[in-house]
Amino acid sequence: MKAAYLTRPYDIEIREIEKPDIKNGDDVLIRVKSVGVCGSDIHYYKEGKIGNFVVKEPLILGHETSGIIEKVGKSVKNLKEGEKVAIEPQVPCRKCDYCKEGRYNLCEYVKFFATPPINGTFCEYIVHPSDFVYKLPEKISLDEATLIEPFSVGVHACNLINLKPGEKVIISGLGPVGILTLIASKINGAIVYGIEKNKKRIEVAKNFGCEYIFNTNEIKIKEIKNNLLEKVDVVFECSGFSELMEETIFWVKRGGRIVFIGMGTEFINFNFSKLTIDEIKISGIFRYANTYKKSIEILSNNKIDLICLISKKFKLEQVKEALEYPTKNFDCIKAIVNP
Ligand SMILES: [Zn+2]
Ligand SMILES: [Zn+2]
Repeated sequence: MKAAYLTRPYDIEIREIEKPDIKNGDDVLIRVKSVGVCGSDIHYYKEGKIGNFVVKEPLILGHETSGIIEKVGKSVKNLKEGEKVAIEPQVPCRKCDYCKEGRYNLCEYVKFFATPPINGTFCEYIVHPSDFVYKLPEKISLDEATLIEPFSVGVHACNLINLKPGEKVIISGLGPVGILTLIASKINGAIVYGIEKNKKRIEVAKNFGCEYIFNTNEIKIKEIKNNLLEKVDVVFECSGFSELMEETIFWVKRGGRIVFIGMGTEFINFNFSKLTIDEIKISGIFRYANTYKKSIEILSNNKIDLICLISKKFKLEQVKEALEYPTKNFDCIKAIVNP
């Protein structure tokens, strides 16, 4: 089968490798059909690392995956040959305390696609444990299903802070994760405001029900706090941009919650006195756990059309172009690869 390897920064090699096969009775073999290009893939492509994760050996990128079941192991009960599926890109150890508590996103031994040294899915076939593979309803297309992965991040964020109906939310940074967090917040009944400067993203967020968006081309970030009609219950910070991260504390009301989703700046100037006085809760979130089933259910029950988020499709041979497309095209929301 063919697979696209990142061999060094800016270099993608299409290699012919052995097609994987089922080893455990619980595994399924999947023909990969659609894979979203994530910011993390682009990071590895350009820099060869993210924080402590360094690409030392050639690595297959891609983790936002859907496909069709080609073969099932002998103990698999939840899936059948020919079914359309979304693939959760992680396999935790299943034994540690985090795994046992159901917080398996925090498992130290988790194997996550496209995180060195674990290969991702810019390839034709993968083998995966069947309990991390989810059957898709008819109405979710294979391309749309790639967005279940970033949508899971938004669903996890809402779960983590127990977002309630009627609560007011600011989402700073309306990239793919920001927009999908907006959708998850709206499903929870929240009233959502946004902060973004890209025209296309502003337009898309408005279509998904964002009430008002501060355009940071028109207003200074530090001025936003003076232009809020009222402070909000929750801030979801999705940009990872220090200036926005530092300001979140001024947008949230006393007793409110701030969730840092976007990864970017490592150290920021943050007003911790205000955090104490206002009894603000802050939280980070790392990936997600137990969100795939719920995300699929939400997307199919609420008739949310995510297709408009897909800006361009590429073939497996064009993985390099796909990884470069979002940087070169300011209006790109999601690029996907169809192996
Ligand atoms: Zn992703
Ligand atoms: Zn574990």
